[in-house]
Amino acid sequence: MSQSVCILGVTGSIGQSTLKILEQHPEQYSVYAVSAYSRIQELGEICKQYRPKVVVVPAAKVDELQQLLKAKKINNIEILADEAGLITVAEHPDVDVVMAAIVGAAGLLPTLAAVKAGKRVLLANKEALVMSGDIMMQAAKDHQALLLPVDSEHNAIFQCLPQNYLQILRNGEPQLGVQQILLTASGGPFLNFGLEQLKTVTPAQACKHPNWSMGQKISVDSATLMNKGLELIEACHLFSIKEHFVTVVVHPQSIIHSMVQYVDGSTLAQMGNPDMCTPIAHALAWPERIQTHVPALDLFTQSRLDFQEPDLVRFPALKLARQAMKIGGLAPAILNAANEIAVAAFLKQQIAFLDIAQVVEHTLNHVQNGVAESIDSILQTDQLARQVASQRITQLES
Ligand code: NDP
Ligand code: MG
Repeated sequence: MSQSVCILGVTGSIGQSTLKILEQHPEQYSVYAVSAYSRIQELGEICKQYRPKVVVVPAAKVDELQQLLKAKKINNIEILADEAGLITVAEHPDVDVVMAAIVGAAGLLPTLAAVKAGKRVLLANKEALVMSGDIMMQAAKDHQALLLPVDSEHNAIFQCLPQNYLQILRNGEPQLGVQQILLTASGGPFLNFGLEQLKTVTPAQACKHPNWSMGQKISVDSATLMNKGLELIEACHLFSIKEHFVTVVVHPQSIIHSMVQYVDGSTLAQMGNPDMCTPIAHALAWPERIQTHVPALDLFTQSRLDFQEPDLVRFPALKLARQAMKIGGLAPAILNAANEIAVAAFLKQQIAFLDIAQVVEHTLNHVQNGVAESIDSILQTDQLARQVASQRITQLES
């Protein structure tokens, strides 16, 4: 039977890759709802091609979208607005699968709504899990949601773990013979830059990733290694392990997407060309497999795979994220909020590249940590951290 899909963040890089796969399997999947934030023209094209039943945009964009759909002679599409609209489609009874591909904290409540509605949730929006890890994972358990990782590393780890790993009782220790998770990192565009060089790198340079084509925010996160830090936290929650069981390995070719080491000396790796269509297709079809246009890996052309340790002096964001996970409570939410604000300021050229980690560290030191007891307390702390980070940015600017 055909599965009905809701794509939150359809105009983004992950949203586009998801459409590509759905297009390849029209008998298996239909598009029920999509959302966009600023790219309304692109959304109009998507509506024309995929004819979703519902679209969600910010209230301020509803008129523009209505005009656009009228001009394209597209009728019968319901338009919903804002976060309430995102939540409505995420939990809608006609939806089987929700692709959570909004970037940042804005994706938290819609993703949680999908989880609470017991959907198959394809999780790309790592910030949502970083902010609310325990609550999100508990909700998935309570509501029997299938929370499947789309982030290529976590999808790789999921593929390398024993099939029943997610069903067994877990307590922060690796189980079933698993000893260690090796989370691979490309190292980003500045892997071989010295500290002096890093002082003057530009947003355009940061957004030019050597192996992946992604949205701006995650591109900057990859350049600072904060992306790997967020992924470290993501892995701890998804696979219920303490942070010291996750080792980050820089692997510049991005061919191995991550590995799992076992007590018997085995190391299992998942490999493939760096294309998000593979993990998206895997999460969509799991436990089955469906075709994508991603070419099979050609190891003769590839010929070598390199590995090195991450440099925490040049890339302190990774260290900050690990510390935040170790401390726990609201610290990951504070880290994430400060990082979102700092990355936005860097993209607007208000602060320098190395200031990003500086702003995050300052915010972690100046916002009170506590127990992440509810979504409300997480969202309050998120707001407070954004204020503190913004103040720090103003200081750095002057
Ligand atoms: P993009 O910036 O390309 O896309 C983000 C999407 O979210 C767009 O559809 C955008 O709408 C929408 N959006 C932005 N802000 C808001 C908001 N405030 N409220 C509602 N919607 C909003 O990002 P990516 O696709 O690269 O990344 C999406 C998520 O997936 C991120 O969390 C990222 O970390 C994660 N991810 C991405 C990978 C990749 O390869 N790109 C790999 C692994 C994880 P619009 O464009 O219309 O403004
Ligand atoms: Mg990743």
